[in-house]
Amino acid sequence: MHELAATESLLTAALRAAEGAGARKVLRIVVSVGHYTGILPEYVEKYFPTASSGTAAEGAALEFQVLPVRVACGSCGTESELAVEDADAGIPEYACRVCGGREFRLLPSNWDIRVESIEVD
Ligand SMILES: [Zn+2]
Repeated sequence: MHELAATESLLTAALRAAEGAGARKVLRIVVSVGHYTGILPEYVEKYFPTASSGTAAEGAALEFQVLPVRVACGSCGTESELAVEDADAGIPEYACRVCGGREFRLLPSNWDIRVESIEVD
């Protein structure tokens, strides 16, 4: 159900963007997915044809790009991006490039799922 709701909100965002651009048809939707969002792209792919049926986005291709893990230094707040593999490994070698701090917090964008761009006709 989580993915179904996400699919519907992505579709709504894409259709709104298409309407804003005066487009008749959405050909492709690029979706950015935060590493910790918990949404499985294959389920979004599965729900999309039914959700988009009869809309301008019917038949559109979906493309997913996983966002880098974004963190902020716990001491000075400098934001950095980490490779997903490093984040999964617990980021043992993390050191803030500004102050050298070794503590960080995850930024909210890691839980995002959003339409990054659309291709229209
Ligand atoms: Zn720092």
